[in-house]
Amino acid sequence: MLNMNFIAGEWVAGSSELENVNPSDTSDVVGTYAQASPEQVEQAVAAAKAAQPVWAGMTPQQRADILDQIGTEILSRKEELGALLSREEGKVLAEGIGEATRAGQVFRFFAQEALRVEGTYIDSVRPGVAVDVRREPVGVVGLITPWNFPIAIPAWKMAPALAFGNAVLIKPASLTPGSVWALVEIISRTAMPAGVVNLVMGGGGTVGDTLCGSTDVDAVSFTGSVATGAHVRRMVAGRGGKVQLEMGGKSPLIIMDDADPETAVTCAISGSVMSTGQRCTSNTRIICTPGIHDQVVGQMAEQAKALRVGHALDAGSQIGPVVDQKQLDTNFRYLEIADKEGASRLCGGERLQRPENGFYMSPAVIADCTNDMQHVREEIFGPVVSVLKADDFDQAVAIANDNDFGLSSGICTGSLKYAEAFKRRSAAGMVMVNLPTAGVDYHVPFGGRKASSYGSREQGRAAAEFYTTLKTSYTLAV
Ligand code: NAD
Repeated sequence: MLNMNFIAGEWVAGSSELENVNPSDTSDVVGTYAQASPEQVEQAVAAAKAAQPVWAGMTPQQRADILDQIGTEILSRKEELGALLSREEGKVLAEGIGEATRAGQVFRFFAQEALRVEGTYIDSVRPGVAVDVRREPVGVVGLITPWNFPIAIPAWKMAPALAFGNAVLIKPASLTPGSVWALVEIISRTAMPAGVVNLVMGGGGTVGDTLCGSTDVDAVSFTGSVATGAHVRRMVAGRGGKVQLEMGGKSPLIIMDDADPETAVTCAISGSVMSTGQRCTSNTRIICTPGIHDQVVGQMAEQAKALRVGHALDAGSQIGPVVDQKQLDTNFRYLEIADKEGASRLCGGERLQRPENGFYMSPAVIADCTNDMQHVREEIFGPVVSVLKADDFDQAVAIANDNDFGLSSGICTGSLKYAEAFKRRSAAGMVMVNLPTAGVDYHVPFGGRKASSYGSREQGRAAAEFYTTLKTSYTLAV
């Protein structure tokens, strides 16, 4: 069966087709997905433009009910949707179900936000004049999403866009279109007017570029790599569109001598190599003070070696495969760089054979790293974690902040003094204390600084900033 695009309320075939292959077992084809042509993207833009005022004109209660219905169905099917997600992306089933659950919760949260669009009423500086400031939808919004969170990221972009009365075009990553297709299928059975949600699957250079270049797309929210993000920013901002980018990370986790060692090692491992290290928020730079360094390094290697790598849908697997051959090659290339840079690979980084033909590798722990090493500075996006040493808290903070990225950061410590000082001094958008840097709540702002993010924050109430625009009205009662 061909999984089609959804344009103007109709399921339509594309100009070509692409197979979605299971990275745990390349003989398993998850499905075949229609690839939209640039003309079809333009049709979807036109449909969204026509439908948006209809959607915005519906009552907040109507929008809330539809979003709630979507969230409720996702939650009631979380095992099935989680399994689909794990099959196409390769994260283990528990994580797949967790992510599907997150998507359902996000829709239900924004269902309620549709009812809470607040404005301000204020007296004018001029006599007899009143001023009100209200939030209105931006209009038509393009959503471009990566492969590593195939349903959560589409949900946390789509739900606020819809809650605030926008129409959307969504372009999922070519490696993982299945989860978004399933989400749009759920939406297609609601009372949402045709054209409010359009699914346009296809490559970045065709569908992505057409979407970013269309002057009828008022705003684009993008999550993906720094290079693509820069391109999207140039295209969208260059024509006067609103743009929001969430990109890479190289998050530091400081481990102080006074940390609880068990908590620290758990944070260091679960925040880095789990999910095959394919999280933008992974704590890939572990910075230890001297008194705890050797203990942490030794236990990290022990724990990493014990992790079971296997088929994402096997109950015994703790880490699934890498998403594809290209990412696997990138991981091995960076491991070679680390070896040449003189760092010590304590374990992992081997190609693993399993009964199925998948992209399996063992998680790698690398010690004796310094912050100027290329593999420590650049995002790898694989199950590879580097450990560095710092003389004291001040040097640890300096190392933590000395990176082009600034998405999330963390500290493991038993001391309130260090915890509070780090929260103040960290140059990241999100800071964790005694927690891994990956793993965030859905009802609070998400985003980073420096090369990690551009534009206003996603998620929580902060999402209103991007998906609405302010209107200031003046009234003189005569
Ligand atoms: P990517 O940049 O290759 O692709 C992201 C999306 O952009 C895909 O849908 C892709 O098809 C599309 N795209 C590619 N070329 C395009 C073009 N010319 N015009 C418009 N769209 C285009 O990223 P990826 O490999 O899918 O994802 C991995 C990256 O995403 C990592 O760097 C990771 O850190 C980042 N990421 C960031 C966050 C965050 O919130 N900060 C979350 C998840 C992933």
